[in-house]
Amino acid sequence: NARSSGERYLFYAPRMNAALAARLALENELQAALELEQFELHYQPRVNLQSGAIVSAEALIRWNHPAQGLVGPVSFIPLAEETGLIRQIGAWVIDAVCAQQARWRANGGQIIPVAINLSAVQSAQPDLLSTIRGAIAKHGVEEKYLEFELTETAVMNNPDEAAHNLAAMKKLGVHLSLDDFGTGYSSLAQLKRFPFDFVKIDRSFIAGVDTNPEDAAIAAAIVAMAHSLHLRVVAEGVETRGQLDVMRSLRCDEIQGYYFSRPVAADKFEEMLRSGM
Ligand code: C2E
Ligand code: CA
Ligand code: CA
Ligand code: CA
Repeated sequence: NARSSGERYLFYAPRMNAALAARLALENELQAALELEQFELHYQPRVNLQSGAIVSAEALIRWNHPAQGLVGPVSFIPLAEETGLIRQIGAWVIDAVCAQQARWRANGGQIIPVAINLSAVQSAQPDLLSTIRGAIAKHGVEEKYLEFELTETAVMNNPDEAAHNLAAMKKLGVHLSLDDFGTGYSSLAQLKRFPFDFVKIDRSFIAGVDTNPEDAAIAAAIVAMAHSLHLRVVAEGVETRGQLDVMRSLRCDEIQGYYFSRPVAADKFEEMLRSGM
């Protein structure tokens, strides 16, 4: 397959623009990566600001590429979304998180909720709920140990389909987070129709929260508004003690970022949990 696509590429190369050829090659490689099980998940802890304990983790996909090593999601998720391959990759992620939780439980470890990123395509997909239920049943995971992260652009792309799916997911008992909040154009009030449990403040605001008064004002407003709507707040991309202190003073609930830990492989994450960090 790789060989025949290589030949096709050579044949059309003179008339095909290089970017398009590269896209086609990547698309073929991505499809093969699924079959060859080259994807893996890393886990980044989310820490409660009151207790200092790890309370959940976000699963972040990586592509263990035979030649390029570990490739980050920004290099392939956008193309997967465009081509529709994200459906299969997304289903793989949901299954892999449930399988990982079953392994952690079998090892006698502590079980905490794991958050899964959903792309716009997935959040409007009619069979999303059955995919989630299937993975839960297959691996014997409790619904409350799963969380799903969606951006406002993802839900606003297909608001009715997304609202339908989110209501069904909420009923199932999984948690829901509004990811990257502040980067889009919607207000929390507009997003009230979606049953989110958490709001994650985008890292672009957190970066300047201890140096830029405007970023601090935005973060403060998001926390206050979210709390008045009974949502819990997570600060993303916390890298310094200064940022952490400001978010604590704003009564933010949880933080995630390099200050505590980068995303790490599953066994390393298990160790972190065991040692209580
Ligand atoms: P995201 O959902 O906003 O995930 C957070 C990103 O910020 C991750 O990048 C994480 O490694 C990074 N990050 C965390 N803490 C810090 C920090 O303190 N400083 C900085 N500079 N960065 C930090 P990553 O893993 O490269 O993922 C990028 C994006 O790819 C994610 O952004 C998400 O939109 C997407 N993605 C990742 N995994 C999946 C997946 O399984 N499915 C889908 N659909 N998208 C995914
Ligand atoms: Ca996320
Ligand atoms: Ca995010
Ligand atoms: Ca993001």
